[in-house]
Amino acid sequence: MRWWGWGEDGHAVPPPPAAEKLLRDELGADPELRRPPVAFDEVKLPDARLPGPVRERLVAALGAEQVRDDRETRIGHSVGRSYPDLVRIRAGDAGSAPDAVALPGSAEQVAAVLALCAEQRVAVVPFGGGTSVVGGVEPVRAGFEAAITLDLGRVATTVEVDRTSLTARLDAGLLGPEAERRLGEEGVTLGHFPQSFEYSTVGGWVATRSAGQASTGYGRIDQLVEAVRCVTPAGELGTKTVPASAAGPSIRELVLGSEGVFGVICEATVRVRPVPAARRYEGWSFASFAEGCDTFRVMEQAGAAADVNRLSDEDETRLTMALGSSGRTSERLGKRYLRMRGHEGGCIAILGFEGAEEDVEDRRRAAAALLRAGGGVALGHRPGQAWYRSRFAAPYLRDELLDRGVLVDTLETATSWSKLGKLHGAVRDALRTALAGRGTPPLAMCHVSHLYPSGASLYFTFLARQQEDALAQWRAAKTAASEAIVAGGGTITHHHAVGRDHRPWLLAETGPLGIELLRAAKERLDPAGIMNPGKLLP
Ligand SMILES: Cc1cc2nc3c(=O)[nH]c(=O)nc-3n(C[C@H](O)[C@H](O)[C@H](O)COP(=O)(O)OP(=O)(O)OC[C@H]3O[C@@H](n4cnc5c(N)ncnc54)[C@H](O)[C@@H]3O)c2cc1C
Repeated sequence: MRWWGWGEDGHAVPPPPAAEKLLRDELGADPELRRPPVAFDEVKLPDARLPGPVRERLVAALGAEQVRDDRETRIGHSVGRSYPDLVRIRAGDAGSAPDAVALPGSAEQVAAVLALCAEQRVAVVPFGGGTSVVGGVEPVRAGFEAAITLDLGRVATTVEVDRTSLTARLDAGLLGPEAERRLGEEGVTLGHFPQSFEYSTVGGWVATRSAGQASTGYGRIDQLVEAVRCVTPAGELGTKTVPASAAGPSIRELVLGSEGVFGVICEATVRVRPVPAARRYEGWSFASFAEGCDTFRVMEQAGAAADVNRLSDEDETRLTMALGSSGRTSERLGKRYLRMRGHEGGCIAILGFEGAEEDVEDRRRAAAALLRAGGGVALGHRPGQAWYRSRFAAPYLRDELLDRGVLVDTLETATSWSKLGKLHGAVRDALRTALAGRGTPPLAMCHVSHLYPSGASLYFTFLARQQEDALAQWRAAKTAASEAIVAGGGTITHHHAVGRDHRPWLLAETGPLGIELLRAAKERLDPAGIMNPGKLLP
C-alpha cells in the first residue's frame, strides 16, 4: 500500500464531477485547492534507536532480510489509516515510526522475537495489514527506549480446509483476497468482507473483532472464529477446535479483540460455508430513516433479514445520489426515482442475499413481504448491483478528498433498537456542532449496516472544510461524538476496535473492575509490558 493513503500507486478514484460541485456548494471547499502529500524524501523520520546487539540477535533469529530498518519500511509502518494518521503522514511526520520491522516466518520465530524483546525491554507492535483506524499500529514507546513492529506478512501460507466440518485453519498474516482465493479453490468462503478487505489480514480481523459488510448474514469475525493460536511473551495460548464448549470462561474470547496487547495471533480456525451459487443485491426506499429502521427491526426479529442490510439516513441518501456512487443515477435521476415512489427526501436501502439459488429466492420473498408491510418500495436490482460493484471504493475517494483540503472521517457504534433513533440524532448533532466553523456547515450522515435481534450498528460519515489545525478540528469532533455515544447508551466501537483513539472511553464500557481484570491478564501474559503499549487498556 502507498505510504500516504489507500491502494497502490496509480490506483485513483477521482471524485465524480458532481462531487466537485457538492464540495463547493455544501462545504465551501475551494475547487482549485490541492494539498498533495509531501514528497517521500521530505518525510521526517527519526534515527533508529534499536541497540546494535539487539538488532544482531534479531538477525540471528530471523535472517538479515527479515529485519528491516530502511526508510521505506519504517515509514510504511509508522501509522495506520485513520484520518489523523493520514493528515500527519501526508504532512511528512513519521515521528512515531518503529526503529525496525521484524518479519518472522512462523509462530516459533514469533516466540523467539517476543522472548528477545521481553529480555531487552523493546516494545513490540503486531502489524497485519496496517489498516487500523483507531491508532492501533502506531508505535507508542511508553517509556521503552526502542520499539519494533512485528509484521505478520510472512505468516501467510497455511489454508487448511476441513470440508466435513466446514472449518479452515488460516495463518494470521493472510490478506483478505488471498485467504478468499485459497478458500475458493476448495469451494468454500469465509464471507468476511470489511471495507478494508483488500489490505487487512485474518489476524487483524481477529485482533479487532471486525465486522464485514455481510456480517448480519455470515456473522462477525468473533462468531466465525472457532479456535485461535496466540503466542504471548509468557508462552502460547491455544484453544480447541470444537463447535461449542461449557469449559469455563472462554480463552478464545479473551484473545478476540486483544489488539496485540497480550500477544501475537498466529493462526485462527474459522467456520466456512460453500461459495454461494447466487448473489442478489437490490435497492429499496423508505419515506424516512425512522420508518426504515423500524422495518429492518421487524425483519431481523422475524429471522428474515438479508445477509447485507444497509439503510442510509436522509442525508446519506441525498449525498449518495449527488455523488452518483449508488450507480449511474445522477442526483436528478435519483430524486425523480424517489419522487415517483412517494419517497422524495426519504431513504435508500440496499439488501443483499447470498446462498443457494432456491434459498435466496425464498428469503428474498419473505423479506420483501415485511419490507413492503413496513412502507418500503422496491427499486430493483440496479442500485444493489451498483453498491456491490463499488463496495471497496470509498477509501480511494477519501485520498482525493484529503487532496482537496476536506476533513473526511467515519465512526461507528451500536445500541439497542429502543435507543437507536435517539442516539442517531445525538451523535449527528454532536458532530455538526463540533465541526460548525465559520462559513458553510459540515456534513454528517449515517447508515445502519449490521442488524441483531436486540439492536443495530450506526455508521457515521462526516465531512467539513479542513481548518488550519486539522488535528485539533478532528479531535473536537471525535470527542464530541464519543461523549454523545457513551451518554446515549452506545458502545464506543461496534467494529473499529479501541486502539489509541477510543482508550479514554473504555472505562465507561468495561467498568473499573473489568479494566483491572484485563490488566491482570496482561501482567500475566506480558510481564514486561512490551506488547503494543499505549493501546486498548487505559
Ligand atoms: C478504509 C477502511 C475501511 C475499513 N472498514 C472496516 C470494516 O468494514 N469493518 C471493520 O471491522 N473494520 C474496518 N476497518 C478497520 C480495519 O481495517 C480493521 O480493524 C481490520 O480488522 C484491521 O486489520 P489489519 O490486518 O489491517 O490489522 P492492523 O491494522 O495491522 O492491526 C489492527 C490491530 O490489531 C493488532 N494486530 C494485527 N494483527 C495482529 C495479530 N496477528 N496478532 C495480534 N494483534 C494483531 C495490531 O497491533 C493493531 O492493534 C477499516 C479501515 C479502513 C482504513
